[in-house]
Amino acid sequence: MIPAASFAGKRVSLFGLGGSGIATARALIEGGADVLAWDDNPDSVAKAAAVGISTGDLRAADWAGFSAFVLSPGVPLTHPKPHWTVELARGSGVEVIGDIELFCRERTLSAAEAPFIGITGTNGKSTTTALTAHILQASGRDTQMGGNIGRAVMTLDPPRPDRHYVVECSSYQIDLAPSINPTAGILLNLTPDHLDRHGTMQHYASIKERLVAGSETAIIGIDDSWCAQIAERLERAGRHVIRISKRLPLTDGYFADGSNLMEAVHGRYSRVAFLEGIGSLRGQHNAQNALAAVAACLKVGLDLGEIQSGLESFPGLAHRMEQVGRKDHVLFVNDSKATNADAAAPALSSFSRIYWIAGGLPKEGGIEPLRGFFPRLAKAYLIGEAAPAFSATLGEAVPYEISGTLAAAVEHAAHDAARDDGGEVVVLLSPACASFDQFKNFEVRGEAFRQAASAIDGVKPIGGAR
Ligand code: ADP
Repeated sequence: MIPAASFAGKRVSLFGLGGSGIATARALIEGGADVLAWDDNPDSVAKAAAVGISTGDLRAADWAGFSAFVLSPGVPLTHPKPHWTVELARGSGVEVIGDIELFCRERTLSAAEAPFIGITGTNGKSTTTALTAHILQASGRDTQMGGNIGRAVMTLDPPRPDRHYVVECSSYQIDLAPSINPTAGILLNLTPDHLDRHGTMQHYASIKERLVAGSETAIIGIDDSWCAQIAERLERAGRHVIRISKRLPLTDGYFADGSNLMEAVHGRYSRVAFLEGIGSLRGQHNAQNALAAVAACLKVGLDLGEIQSGLESFPGLAHRMEQVGRKDHVLFVNDSKATNADAAAPALSSFSRIYWIAGGLPKEGGIEPLRGFFPRLAKAYLIGEAAPAFSATLGEAVPYEISGTLAAAVEHAAHDAARDDGGEVVVLLSPACASFDQFKNFEVRGEAFRQAASAIDGVKPIGGAR
């Protein structure tokens, strides 16, 4: 745990007592703060009280006495409208912050030189965070990973000069971290997302920009126009910017040329790493993630040998294009996290001959946006409520069956793939649907796929990502 000493002897209010809220309250108490915590859910309040956190309805509190108000990132700060606690804090001039802000203040106070890599973007945050932490750890660096992935940031070990922090930051967390100051800040990409919580794309982008604007070095994926503009703006303001591109040769920065990751310095190119043969980093989207991780690791002092060896041993994340098994020329890939068509596109673009398992609870737009990938589909196996609509879209273009259940789909797809004599093929679960019609969540669906694949005679598991 990181004791939040910056609030020692001060009164702090806190709202939102989920896992990270409780961890943050304990870190504040450990640092010597007097905390008053609350939640709209009485069960959460009871849980916090049971572990010794003092709780009380913040409507009745004396707000003038608080030095800060710590808000859980899941609670609306601005849109659709500020939560009632935010109105109360603002009315009394109390600053509203989150756990990442507490972390930044502690690091600045106690070990400002501790390397801190902050990662944001619309897509690829978790992969890039896990990959960067893996490369650092594999090189023997003292590495702590958390934030929006895995552990709440205040439960990490306390800052020390040689301790490396790799922290995934959602836009909500950045919105609550006004003094965020990573050694290397990564902004991967920006596409419309969560606009219900951020109002406009402009506002969403401006929040994400803050992470890189506060960084010593800003690493920015310039393949979309929002990020390209942010890179321009920061550079004009005199900031150190490293551009990355998954598709364009750059004059300065890092870019992907096929599976080679290249560095460009004033138009001169050299290869810094390669992804050929690394199954956990297939696809152009992963080239973007890997470029960002490479640039950040170079910034904090790793050498190219350490980086290449970390890339090669990266196990990948569960449920994201995760290789779960192989039988001869058939690879089984679990991409259960792909809960809409946009999220399924990277997997479909990464393989050339696919036995595709899709369906579940349909999302608006269905699979029409994936039409460009239909020529790659050897056959589709449709499950869940979306099956009739998906079969209508596939029409004459792709052979399909309505398998109904995931178990039947895996069995039939494995059977057909085994008889395919066109070289390596993949049985891919990338459902382009939510899971809730048949499973508790996408993780349970992914596990069911793993089990069904492993149960097939002769399938050898590919370990690692769990
Ligand atoms: P996040 O944490 O931002 O949700 P993840 O790393 O968990 O992202 O990846 C979720 C899904 O997003 C992946 O399964 C893949 O389909 C897609 N994805 C991953 N990286 C990228 C990227 N750099 N650009 C676009 N899509 C990506």
